[in-house]
Amino acid sequence: MKKRGLLIILSGPSGVGKGTVRKKLFENNDLNLVYSISMTTRAPRNGEVNGVDYFFVSEKEFQKNINRNNFLEFCFFVGNCYGTPKSVVDKWRDEGKNVFLEIEINGASQVMEKTKGDGVVAIFLMPPSFEELRERIVNRRSESEEVVNRRLAKAKSEMDKVSEYDYTVVNDDVERAAAEIHKIISERL
Ligand code: 5GP
Repeated sequence: MKKRGLLIILSGPSGVGKGTVRKKLFENNDLNLVYSISMTTRAPRNGEVNGVDYFFVSEKEFQKNINRNNFLEFCFFVGNCYGTPKSVVDKWRDEGKNVFLEIEINGASQVMEKTKGDGVVAIFLMPPSFEELRERIVNRRSESEEVVNRRLAKAKSEMDKVSEYDYTVVNDDVERAAAEIHKIISERL
């Protein structure tokens, strides 16, 4: 029988660079990783593509998926809903693929609780400093000042959750952080 795939959670505050590190990790995909595309009610940012970055849906559609118990986890984050579709994650893991979730802290806690850590590796991506995190969020220029401040306030409280994770990786350099995560995953395979 095929070995069930690992569930890898990459979490950390908004703006820490989870997406960039994930893309680096997927460049040379020798770990048999598949990326779980989330559903969100947020409007697409410039350049974001439906079905690639997210499945962009209405609030009504999102609610329908909650009612049908379609999510492995979901959250309400700074004005929008985000969720991980469950069935595809299970299917991929059954096929032996290692499923990569890039999600915020509450969702990560839900997954850790549900799975009791079985077949799961949870990684917290930390910014080198809070100042750097602010700069990254501001430089993204996609949010109003109010949203930037709300995201930063949230990031402060999220840092307290780091002890729940199996590993902490500092995103001081994308290549280095991706290499560290690669090593963590390969040691679990
Ligand atoms: P953004 O709006 O910047 O794309 O995402 C906001 C936050 O939600 C980020 O921390 C991102 O990683 C997280 N996120 C994206 N998809 C999901 C998901 O399916 N579930 C959860 N819990 N968080 C998600």
